[in-house]
Amino acid sequence: MVQAFPPGVTRRKYVPRHNTTEGDLHKMVCMTMLLSDKQRSYLHAMGIDVYQRQDAPCVQLLTTAAGAITPDPEDKSLSQVQEPIPLTPPSNSPTQLTLLDWAALQTAVRGCTACGLHQTRTQTVFGVGDPKAQLMFIGEAPGAEEDRQGEPFVGRAGQLLNQMLLAIELQRSQVYIANILKCRPPNNRDPKPEEAAQCWPYLQRQIEIVQPRLLVALGRIAAQRLLKTDTPLVRLRQKQHHPEGLGVPLIVTYHPAYLLRSPQDKRKAWEDLLYIRNTLRETTK
Ligand code: SF4
Repeated sequence: MVQAFPPGVTRRKYVPRHNTTEGDLHKMVCMTMLLSDKQRSYLHAMGIDVYQRQDAPCVQLLTTAAGAITPDPEDKSLSQVQEPIPLTPPSNSPTQLTLLDWAALQTAVRGCTACGLHQTRTQTVFGVGDPKAQLMFIGEAPGAEEDRQGEPFVGRAGQLLNQMLLAIELQRSQVYIANILKCRPPNNRDPKPEEAAQCWPYLQRQIEIVQPRLLVALGRIAAQRLLKTDTPLVRLRQKQHHPEGLGVPLIVTYHPAYLLRSPQDKRKAWEDLLYIRNTLRETTK
């Protein structure tokens, strides 16, 4: 395998930053040379191709139109400017939920009628993956396909998330994936503040039980809800946050549904994935 790092640059020394410079990008693309053919194919599926230039010591990483995935009209764009969700105390009792184990929590969610979304759901969407995972992804809410299948991230956005995970050598079954809301908002609208507040204790208990080493918020709504902020997503990327009361560091990246509509940002998502992978390695040392 070709390794063409600039002098003094090693895999361990590369740390992506928010204000990535050309030099940082050079180091980043050099890292892609360490990828296996399989990882390169996953990156290609994400719309990120890696080319070896004849006249350059390293590689160029380009997002190609050919690799772009056609947006699904069901998928929601998270790029729109919307109001952050204010935080209000949930009416569900976190005290009672802390007594529940995983199975009992699943049962509680299945029977939940704490907000109006229970009237329109096909079924609740609890989460999927390894309940002892070191890495936990949190999205916004189930969409139409998730509501049908009872599993988060199963549509085209879910397929892209799977490719993103494989690009950092993780299977979907090795992480845990959940949403802020367990029931689908009608017509895929944004969660209402009271719905997010009512559902919060379930997610909080899931995080307590899974005890991941790192949380990843997928998209603006999940990020702002978890961090209790209205800061734009672009300013939340590429840094570790410490959400109040969770005791687990959190990193923010784009929602796969947004990336389907905005393939030009897949390169930034790849930077985020590298940052997530490196941070996870640091926290598991
Ligand atoms: S969205 Fe959450 S709080 Fe509302 S009914 Fe579903 S499980 Fe209960």
